[in-house]
Amino acid sequence: MKVPMLDLNAQYEPIKEDVLDAMREVFESKRFINGPQITELEEKIAEYCHCKYAIGVTSGTDAILISLMALDIGQGDEVITTPFTFFATAGCIHRVGAKTVFVDIDPKTYNINPELIEEKISDKTKAILPVHLFGQIAEMDKIMEIAKKHNLYVIEDAAQAIGSEYKNKRAGSLGDVGCFSFFPSKNLGCCGDGGMVTTNDEDLANKIKILRAHGSKPKYYHKVIGGNFRLDTIQAAILLKKFPLLEKWHKGRQKNAEYYNEKLKSYAEIPFVENYNKMIYNQYTIRSKSRDKLHQHLIDSNIGNAIYYPVPLHLQKCFANLEYKIGDCPESEKAANEVLSIPIYPELSNEQKNYIVEKVISGI
Ligand SMILES: *Cc1c(COP(=O)(O)O)cnc(C)c1O
Repeated sequence: MKVPMLDLNAQYEPIKEDVLDAMREVFESKRFINGPQITELEEKIAEYCHCKYAIGVTSGTDAILISLMALDIGQGDEVITTPFTFFATAGCIHRVGAKTVFVDIDPKTYNINPELIEEKISDKTKAILPVHLFGQIAEMDKIMEIAKKHNLYVIEDAAQAIGSEYKNKRAGSLGDVGCFSFFPSKNLGCCGDGGMVTTNDEDLANKIKILRAHGSKPKYYHKVIGGNFRLDTIQAAILLKKFPLLEKWHKGRQKNAEYYNEKLKSYAEIPFVENYNKMIYNQYTIRSKSRDKLHQHLIDSNIGNAIYYPVPLHLQKCFANLEYKIGDCPESEKAANEVLSIPIYPELSNEQKNYIVEKVISGI
């Protein structure tokens, strides 16, 4: 048997006609830029994320970048984030000219450890950028309390967490701004790159809209410098067809996770989910001291699997100037050596899941 890490074909087959119709409509209308599907999607996503505003952008990366720009974060500022995340989180901080300050993770959830944040706050700190890793929201009550006390912005990197909940509040509605990605491997993915910013702050929403089109308002008059951060109409049109299935897809992932939890709990460390969190399982990540052996065994058994992430960001060469060294974020470093994500996509068959469980157990 062969099981891919993600089977986009299985997702596409049942919605093929809808997706092709959506694309045809855009081609017929020729409204490739700023078509009506953009606003329609923004309204749907804002409502879904329990936010007043949502602004479509080019990617999850650009959602983070434009949020930092809109909050006037740049040269001389510091932003606190986790080193155990996808590169974009810290890459964007660097790109606006600010300095990334890494804070280690809680080894249970892999999210930033709020207990370690305050000691890293300086008079240059402007924001905290927590990541809701693998689809579980970070410890937001504590993060918001610290932010309030020190007058900091909070930017949620919710790229992996659309629809996930923390104490009944949705990802993207807890901080000042939320950043989402529609990269094809996310729970809601488009057919290329796409992203969304959410906020409850009207001024911030307006500013992001202006920055998304080169800072132009009115057209050809620029009070600020933005970029081309527009979401394509065709991607919005496709997402509108996929969006109604999102809750069903989340449930499929959650059911798969329950199955794995039951079967694997005596063999590996299964994902820990706080009882007040609703996890959407963008990834199902186990940890084991014999991770490398397991990784190879699954490859040999034709089972897709992935290491998210093999090198924590404080140890990446491009951030050498920040002068972090091995041992500075020990829990992130340990996780990088022990984690392994296995297929969790909702279309997995029972036979595939059985096969995966069998091979994980024999590989540990
Ligand atoms: C996917 C992802 C991003 C970037 O999103 P893109 O749409 O690929 O640019 C940022 N942060 C995290 C945590 C992600 O998983």
